[in-house]
Amino acid sequence: MFRLTGISKRYAQVCALDNVSLDIAPGQTTVLIGPSGCGKTTLLRALIGLAVPDAGNVAFDGDTVCESNVLAIRRRVGYVVQDGGLFPHLTARQNIQLMARYLEWNRADRDARTAELAALSHFPADCLDRYPLELSGGQNQRVGLMRALMLDPEVLLLDEPLGALDPMIRFELQQDLREIFGRLGKTVVMVTHDLAEAAFLGHEIVLMRDGQVVQRGRLGDMLQAPADEFVARFIRAQRSHLPNTGTPT
Ligand code: ADP
Ligand code: MG
Repeated sequence: MFRLTGISKRYAQVCALDNVSLDIAPGQTTVLIGPSGCGKTTLLRALIGLAVPDAGNVAFDGDTVCESNVLAIRRRVGYVVQDGGLFPHLTARQNIQLMARYLEWNRADRDARTAELAALSHFPADCLDRYPLELSGGQNQRVGLMRALMLDPEVLLLDEPLGALDPMIRFELQQDLREIFGRLGKTVVMVTHDLAEAAFLGHEIVLMRDGQVVQRGRLGDMLQAPADEFVARFIRAQRSHLPNTGTPT
């Protein structure tokens, strides 16, 4: 679905992405993980031309992303930004329907699609006319997800969608996300800093450090054959909440 070839992106002194090459397969979930500041958000933004690389190129479904096709590509991608990005002065329904209104869908179609998404994402339909401040953190995350899914995109990008939630709500939303991703069969690229979550939701895990991809594969590959000492340390640091992986203590 995406092919990144030798992508680099620098902000002043910081090298946010350092010569990254990566293929992202269609119809499955790829999880980007790594310490804060390692370039996860920048990589996600580069996929849809929101961060323009200084070197290298990004192809989407075979076409190199460039100025002339980037808007058409973004229509095929839903994006849940880090921290949700809901407009506080719009209700859940208005947030969800923003693009559909812009594209002049009629009200009945907009509301029908919204009801469908509320059912899919287990969001109480009678809360759709509340403002973000009147909803819980978990509910707002569901609103962000519904907004990203409104136009039925082929690809879904999610940047730490469970980041700020308390553990119970987080657990619930993890279960729901896995079910939703499975049901929809879309290409999903998700960012997290939690390895257990990455293993639970991802078909493939891409572990990053300092703007580079250090290892990709499944959790089991990383446990059995960590690419370097950093990978081993990253896993050790998170081991206490991994599923039972049988690693010696
Ligand atoms: P992550 O999402 O993994 O925490 P980011 O991709 O947000 O990391 O950032 C990678 C690095 O690039 C960080 O050092 C960050 O401060 C820097 N960076 C990201 N975006 C910008 C920007 N717009 N301006 C300046 N520096 C940025
Ligand atoms: Mg980030």
